[in-house]
Amino acid sequence: MMTWRSHPSFDGHEDVVFVVDEAIGFAGIIAVHSTALGPAGGGCRIWRYARDEEALTDALRLSRGMTYKNAMADLPMGGGKGVIYKMGADRAACMEKFGETVEALGGRYVTAEDVGATVADMRAIARRTGFVAGIPKEVGQAGGDPSPWTSLGAFLSIEALLGGSVQGRTIAVQGVGAVGFGLCVLLKEAGGKLIVADVNAANLARAMALGAEQAPVDRIHACAADVFSPNALGAGLNARTIPELSAPIVCGAANNQLETEDDGARLQAQGITYAPDYVVNAGGIINVSAEYLGESEAAVDARVRAIPARVLHVIATAKAQGILPHQAADAIVRNRIAAATSSKGRS
Ligand code: NAD
Repeated sequence: MMTWRSHPSFDGHEDVVFVVDEAIGFAGIIAVHSTALGPAGGGCRIWRYARDEEALTDALRLSRGMTYKNAMADLPMGGGKGVIYKMGADRAACMEKFGETVEALGGRYVTAEDVGATVADMRAIARRTGFVAGIPKEVGQAGGDPSPWTSLGAFLSIEALLGGSVQGRTIAVQGVGAVGFGLCVLLKEAGGKLIVADVNAANLARAMALGAEQAPVDRIHACAADVFSPNALGAGLNARTIPELSAPIVCGAANNQLETEDDGARLQAQGITYAPDYVVNAGGIINVSAEYLGESEAAVDARVRAIPARVLHVIATAKAQGILPHQAADAIVRNRIAAATSSKGRS
């Protein structure tokens, strides 16, 4: 594996820890991108990669992404990510090994679930460290499944972008899994009209039962609608799909919606308003962070309800400065981190 400081996705990361335990068949990475605003928060992804180098690429990119998402959401957290790319037969032992690594970082990284990880995994990690969230909550406390909060943040953002109401407006929802379905329920309750697509028949049927219209998976982005809402996988906005978009607004919870930097400019050139993904989809990490900080559910609700104003602010800033919304969001985050770093330097 190449050294992390020479990796093309290296972006001033503070630390990257590699852990291999051949006896139990475990290999993992923890990338700490930034602790300028607080402990580096970000989930643990469990994934099989074609090549080990891809695990490092993911760890570096995802941890940087968490710095941006957490800072934008005004959370007292930096950005980090764990990636487990070799999992032995004794899964609990592997998760405990990961927990030991988290513990060794002394609180500079706080983990939780990401793709491939379960609550049982978090419980195993918790046997070795307290720097873990994503474990079912106690009554009144924040915690548990983050996706309803992500759905709420996306819903409120869409509502704000439509001028305060979704009543009678059409929203094309790509992906109706945990977040997308929750979003559909909220849109429906508020009088929105739904067009949906999903590759998973059961998830699709659940959304259709809300009275949604179905679109083919490869055409949902092109449907006539007021908003196109990506809630499936990343890179859905690209050179192929953007020219076919019909909705004047794109706002959804999927991570990494723009396939390349150029796709932000492509959207703008077509007069489409793009709500940057990490501004919209912060509800989940807000919930995870509140669990870790021991905050109440009411505090989570208040933080999630602050998302739409932030989305409008980012878009207005981009317009005022003649830049793209995702560039405006990145600039706001960089300023926030620079201010925190210089005030730390002074104290
Ligand atoms: P999920 O797996 O529950 O749902 C994803 C859905 O997308 C599934 O129903 C899947 O069948 C569908 N899908 C996959 N490929 C598709 C395609 N080509 N066309 C249409 N549908 C397709 O995942 P989720 O938790 O709902 O997350 C959805 C997105 O939101 C992901 O990008 C995730 O990274 C992001 N996100 C989720 C959270 C959260 O709280 N769960 C937080 C932030 C961001």
